[in-house]
Formats: sequence, C-alpha cells, structure tokens
Amino acid sequence: MSILVYIEHAEGKVKKTSLEAVSFANALSAKTGEGDVVALALGTIGQDELAAVGKAGASKVLHASDDRLTAGVIQAHASAVAQAFEKVGAKTVVLAKSSLGDAVAARLAIKINAALVSNVVELPDTSAGYKVKRSIFTGKAFAETEVTTENKILAIKKNAVDLKADGSDAAVESFEVSLADSDFASKITATERATGEVLLPEADIVVSGGRGLKGPENWGMIEDLAKTLGAATGCSKPVSDIGWRPHHEHVGQTGVKVAPSLYIAIGISGAIQHLAGVNSSKCIVVINKDPEAPFFKAADYGIVGDAFEVVPKLNEALKAEL
Ligand code: FAD
Repeated sequence: MSILVYIEHAEGKVKKTSLEAVSFANALSAKTGEGDVVALALGTIGQDELAAVGKAGASKVLHASDDRLTAGVIQAHASAVAQAFEKVGAKTVVLAKSSLGDAVAARLAIKINAALVSNVVELPDTSAGYKVKRSIFTGKAFAETEVTTENKILAIKKNAVDLKADGSDAAVESFEVSLADSDFASKITATERATGEVLLPEADIVVSGGRGLKGPENWGMIEDLAKTLGAATGCSKPVSDIGWRPHHEHVGQTGVKVAPSLYIAIGISGAIQHLAGVNSSKCIVVINKDPEAPFFKAADYGIVGDAFEVVPKLNEALKAEL
C-alpha cells in the first residue's frame, strides 16, 4: 500500500505547495501506516528536480513524461492520477489546494469513488473514525469533516504544513498513462506569463501596494523594494480596477490568494476582502500613515508613516544589509 501525491510544477520547478503535500503525506503515513509515499508528476520536467521530491518524504516518483500533460489539462491529469492510484494500490491521494488541484481532485473523486476534503490544515484525527480539520470562510473558521469512504482525497492548504527537507533523493520511475481523445476535450491553446520575475501565487515574499500610493507613477518604489527582496508585486483590488496595475496582481477574496513567508502591505487599508487573500501569510508587515488603519490588527509588524518616506529608506537599509 502507498499514499499517492499529485505533483504540480511550473517553469521546470516542483511547486512548494506540492512539496508541502508530500511532507503531509509522509507524516500521514507515519500516523496511519499506509506505506510509502509515491509522488506522480505529469509532463516535461527534469529528473533531478523530481528526485529532489524525495527530500520532502517521497520514496518514489512516477513520471508520465508525455508533453501533452505539461500544461495542466484537467481531464487528462485526473485520468493519469486515477491510473497511478490503481497501480500503487493507494487508498489516499494527497495534493495541494490550488485551482488546478481543485479541478483535478473533483474529477478524480468521481473516478476513484473517493471523499474529497479540501483546505486541510492538519493531520486527520483517527482516534475514532477519520476526522479532518479544514479551513473555511477564507480562513476565519475551521470545520471538522468526518470521512467514511475507504478512498480519500485530501487537498492541503498552503503553508499549513512544515516542509520536510531532510529526506534523501527519490527513485524516479517512468509511468505510461493510457489517454483517450476525450481526456483532451478541452485544450489550453495559449498561455501568457504574468509580468515580473517572481510569480505572485508562488512567491515567498510579496510587496503589495494600495490606493495610498496615489497613482501608477509611484510604483517604482514598490518594484525597487520587491527587487531588493526577490519578491513578487501585488496590489489591492481598486488599484487593478483603476488600471494602475495589471489584474493578475490583484490580491484578495476576489483575486489571487497568497501565502508567502512575508507580505508587505503599503498604503492598503486592510479591508476584510483584502485580508481574505493574505491571511495565510506567515508574517505581515504593514506600512500606513493612518494608525487606525484596520490592517494593523492583522499585522505582525507595523510602521505608521508616509509610504513615500518610509519605503525608499527601508529599501536603502535592506540593500545595505542583503
Ligand atoms: P483605501 O481603502 O482607499 O485605503 C488606502 C490606504 O492607504 C488607507 O488606509 C490610507 O490610510 C493609506 N494611505 C494613504 N496615503 C498614504 C501614504 N502616503 N502612506 C501610507 N499609507 C497611506 N479589495 C481587495 O484588495 N481585494 C479583493 O479581492 C477585494 N474583493 C472585494 C470583493 C467585494 C465583493 C467587495 C465589495 C470589495 C472587495 N474589495 C477587495 C475592496 C475592499 O473592500 C477595499 O475597498 C479595498 O481593499 C481598499 O483598497 P485600498 O486599501 O488600496 O484603498
């Protein structure tokens, strides 16, 4: 028996959220005795990168290298995961909670007759039954879900798991998937890479600006600070609505949900709809000239001051330090 983990990758790198899923599966296996952790990667990606998945706790990586699987073709991915599930004799699939993960997991649940629990934040309680704690209402509450099916799919919330990094390289094994035309009923015909060196959904550090920055001409200091920190840039919704910044930078309930180690919010008030997209961040720093700005209640560190004075000084100080 094994636990199967569905791996997502982009630009030749396994996503951190998938490594978290592997770490979760590793701890789950230690708890439930479900055997080794087998990861499944689909499409074109380097063997070294796949072997490194072992550091997070996988003993083996199955790799279906068919290039048609590189762009996340949902139906084909669901079919491939179902076939791997059969092959390794798993009862549990673990994956990262993400848009692709959600789409694949929903289809997979039908194929393998499994219960799907999404936004899982900790290992299940197996003392009486199988109870899974998950985050609901954009992180404001938790729910406990009892799973009664034999087959289970657990989608793990970003940053909910400590990343294991002390394992050894995994064996990478080629995996032949049998795919039908219907698996490619919908096709991705073009993809456009978002601007910026660091992609927002994956970023470990995000520097985000709001309406307090007065206009698009002032984003230079946000970009400079982001460059110093190796961060992605984000913004509040009105900023992208007015067209100061592109829509893919809009963070919040109706935009991108980020979970970086560090989120720096500059000139953003901290409305609940914005907080809904950032409340999984490990550390939040707020720079706002209004000491009563609601964002300070959610902040780990706050600087009350004018962004136009604080940000350039902060950037200079960091440049001297880093
Ligand atoms: P403001 O509310 O105008 O705040 C600007 C802040 O900048 C203020 O706190 C001010 O003190 C500060 N400031 C001004 N000048 C300076 C200066 N010189 N230096 C430092 N600070 C300064 N919003 C999102 O962001 N994401 C969402 O996903 C989202 N979804 C929504 C969904 C719905 C259904 C609705 C109704 C709203 C949604 N909103 C969302 C909008 C949200 O309610 C707020 O209106 C929005 O987040 C406010 O953006 P802001 O903080 O940039 O602007």
